[in-house]
Amino acid sequence: MKKTVFSAMRPTGKLHLGHLVGALHNWLLLQKEHKCIFGIVDWHALMGEYEQSLEIKDNVIEMAADWIACGIDPEKSIIFVQSQVPEHLELQMMFSCITPLGWLERNPTYKEQLREIKTRDLQTYGFLGYPVLQAADILLYKANAVPIGEDQLPHLELTREISRRFNHIFKKEIFEDCEAILTETPRLLGLDGRKMSKSYNNAINLSDTPEQIASKSKVMITDTKRIKLTDKGHPEECNVYSYYNVFAPQQTKDVYQWCSKAEKGCSDCKKILSQEITEQLKEIREKRAKLIEDKNKIRDILEAGKQKARQIAQKTLEEVRGVVFG
Ligand code: SF4
Repeated sequence: MKKTVFSAMRPTGKLHLGHLVGALHNWLLLQKEHKCIFGIVDWHALMGEYEQSLEIKDNVIEMAADWIACGIDPEKSIIFVQSQVPEHLELQMMFSCITPLGWLERNPTYKEQLREIKTRDLQTYGFLGYPVLQAADILLYKANAVPIGEDQLPHLELTREISRRFNHIFKKEIFEDCEAILTETPRLLGLDGRKMSKSYNNAINLSDTPEQIASKSKVMITDTKRIKLTDKGHPEECNVYSYYNVFAPQQTKDVYQWCSKAEKGCSDCKKILSQEITEQLKEIREKRAKLIEDKNKIRDILEAGKQKARQIAQKTLEEVRGVVFG
């Protein structure tokens, strides 16, 4: 059955390989089967990174270019910018009025991020309430499916709790439960073996040139036990090998052989990998470069997406206002 699927990304910087294999590949599959609504959620970006607010505008355009270059089709899916659809904030306000503080304070991701992230100011009212805005993002379009990883299930559960509470308080089934489309994504660490992240500067971006890909690949962490060329390696413990698994699975047998038998050195191994990645990103990079030359065209696509998104959003808000204010 055709579903309404909602998913989003925060425009906080360039998209990298992690976004490609962790989300966009899956979005392309969903786009074939379902009605998809993809949001560039700039309010969420502002929540965590308000000190870099002036970068958000450019990041929005870059993100739209990345998405379209990867195959997200504005003719099939709605691509829009969250702050251009004011209904998100109105619904968030409605939900804020009925969401118990304890639900937000107990949110495991909130607690974890407060503990782990020291480079950004997350001690704000806005950040505590980000799951309420997330609930509004999803429910505004009455989405009945959200592609997520298992770690994000508590968030979706919070969205369900908010929608059920809303229906209960205002005595009308305005919102249905939204289900998770659980997606298994390949685990891809950053070049340095840590979590892939913009703040660690440890990722290959979709917009990187072949030269940048080659130089980033050179510094990839390998099997730390393999020190000399003659040392036999342990591919299953090597980050480079895990990239082969994702980007050149047809080569993994050869890599296993040359690594475990010390037939090839790590720099050659990384060079071949960088060529594979460069080849795979070629089409995206070329399409992206063309798109970015005409930013007005991207703005037009986002404007059209906004119109479509608002049509749905306004309808939902009418219903919501009706049950809340009569
Ligand atoms: Fe990793 Fe390749 Fe070196 Fe083996 S040869 S340790 S797989 S980089």
